[in-house]
Amino acid sequence: MNKIKAAMAQFMSGRYGMDQLNKILMIAAFILILAGSFIQVPVLNSLALVVLAYTIFRTYSRNHRKRTAENQRFQRILKKIRNSFLLTKLRIKEAGTHRHIKCPQCGVIIRTSKERGPRRFTCPKCKTEFETNIRV
Ligand SMILES: [Zn+2]
Repeated sequence: MNKIKAAMAQFMSGRYGMDQLNKILMIAAFILILAGSFIQVPVLNSLALVVLAYTIFRTYSRNHRKRTAENQRFQRILKKIRNSFLLTKLRIKEAGTHRHIKCPQCGVIIRTSKERGPRRFTCPKCKTEFETNIRV
């Protein structure tokens, strides 16, 4: 038993292993397999195999730098999506009292009162001055 364990450790040494992108890819492949079996579309199963093959390739890859860069890119996209949902949730929650305006220079969200009409703002992050018209 120790021989098998040692052989596995030898095989896995230097390999990239699992990260968040691989976990999401595996979940995506699983969902594709389930969807393919429910709605009887064979293309989904083929797509699931491609996703699984890519996940296995990433797990056993020895190119750590490239895999880490891919994972970081994925994390940034995930963060943007999550922040977009959080902002929408905040906008709905504070719709009666506040407005959220995006700085045209750096993209920072500025929370302000819902007072209507043209108004000037100075971004707290990049100090850009800009004017916007709050209509609703
Ligand atoms: Zn700014």
